[in-house]
Amino acid sequence: MLHLENIVKTYKVGDSVVAALRGVSMQFRKSEFVAILGPSGCGKTTLLNIIGGLDGYDSGDLTINGRSTKEYRDGEWDAYRNHSVGFVFQSYNLIPHQSVLANVELALTLSGVSKKERRRRAAEALEKVGLGDQLHKKPNQMSGGQMQRVAIARALVNDPEIILADEPTGALDSETSVQIMEILKEISKDKLIIMVTHNPELAEEYSSRIIRLLDGEVLSDTDPYAPEEETEVVEDRKKKPSMKFWTALSLSFNNLLTKKGRTFMTSFAGRSVLSALR
Ligand code: ADP
Ligand code: MG
Repeated sequence: MLHLENIVKTYKVGDSVVAALRGVSMQFRKSEFVAILGPSGCGKTTLLNIIGGLDGYDSGDLTINGRSTKEYRDGEWDAYRNHSVGFVFQSYNLIPHQSVLANVELALTLSGVSKKERRRRAAEALEKVGLGDQLHKKPNQMSGGQMQRVAIARALVNDPEIILADEPTGALDSETSVQIMEILKEISKDKLIIMVTHNPELAEEYSSRIIRLLDGEVLSDTDPYAPEEETEVVEDRKKKPSMKFWTALSLSFNNLLTKKGRTFMTSFAGRSVLSALR
């Protein structure tokens, strides 16, 4: 559903040009937990921003659900950002003087939905991250881990297919980080999660796939996805059983003609001999 093909991204800094991504290709499954690892400055945030439609690319292509985003109009980018993607940042990005419930509710982009329904959905998202009893607190009354859970609820409230998290545990202690990873892992059962992290141990333990970047290029990928190849394999598998089926059928037909057939004919012949004798 998401396909990056040879993505190149440069930034102009004064008179010089910085290459953030130098031809990055990857595809993602509908649901998996992908960790992006790599040293500071290697292009992780740039990659995430391009996947989320927050930043454009210079060349290459990003295909979403089979459609090239080269053809995307502004309205389509808006719809994608608002309904298909949820963002989680290291710094939570919550509105400090609004309640937790209001923070999540504000992210609901559904139109024609009553205030009551908005409240219900926001509360439901907060319950999912274990904050069902903290709805009326303000972010500045919460711990870092709780604030990040609010941010995850905010990312979930529109029920997007993709969650993008940029160093979500970067400001948290290890115990709280583990809680956040457990929540993300649970969510990845039916969503695509792409998480940038500095922490290889957390990536190893919780993600299902690790992509390492170095200097704007993919260094390694522990579980690459190539749906065309899998389709071929499936087709192959479909062909093979049908060949086996014919082989089996002809074998059983042979069998009929030989053993069972002979028994049949023998018994038939035997009977006719018997009846002739009667
Ligand atoms: P990471 O998230 O892995 O630390 P980034 O994607 O933020 O790396 O940055 C990749 C490279 O692109 C770095 O050299 C960085 O300085 C540069 N870069 C990123 N964003 C900008 C920007 N808005 N303007 C100029 N240079 C940028
Ligand atoms: Mg970054």
